[in-house]
Amino acid sequence: MTHPRRLIRAAIEDSGITTLRCECGANALHMIEEFFETLDRDPDSLRERRDWMEGHAMSGSFHHRPAPAVAEILMAALPFYPTGAARTVILEVLLDLSDGDIDDLVEQCQQVIRPGVWLFLEEIASGLSPASASLAFDILLAVEEDDWVAFAREQLSDMLPAVQLDPGYG
Ligand SMILES: [Zn+2]
Repeated sequence: MTHPRRLIRAAIEDSGITTLRCECGANALHMIEEFFETLDRDPDSLRERRDWMEGHAMSGSFHHRPAPAVAEILMAALPFYPTGAARTVILEVLLDLSDGDIDDLVEQCQQVIRPGVWLFLEEIASGLSPASASLAFDILLAVEEDDWVAFAREQLSDMLPAVQLDPGYG
């Protein structure tokens, strides 16, 4: 097993997901294993689709019990996917998890995602991917890091699409 794979495995165990029942009735570990298997093999098949999570960690905008553990694992995995479609997919999922019908599970996801504020700012500042920068900005908005949203609009404006610079956006 490579070092990144070993560290992601440690994050999976630490998240407690192996003790959680998935919304589908199976052990919640199944969905995260299927996710990484597909992410490593064919990340484009996961772009803008979250079928793997639908009915397992979320249904529509409604979070299920494994959602915070999924957020925790993906935050740990994010640095190991520095570029490309896989990184964009992880950011898409984190955005899904950071927003939704307001309840305790959304709040728990936001608490896990919020300490990653520097990862999201770095994503915007890097200029590597307009799609990923836009997602990172939406995550900052969703977890209500208002000061950093304002900072990004002021200091990183050339890295963001015009629509996101509008104070009325979001
Ligand atoms: Zn399931």
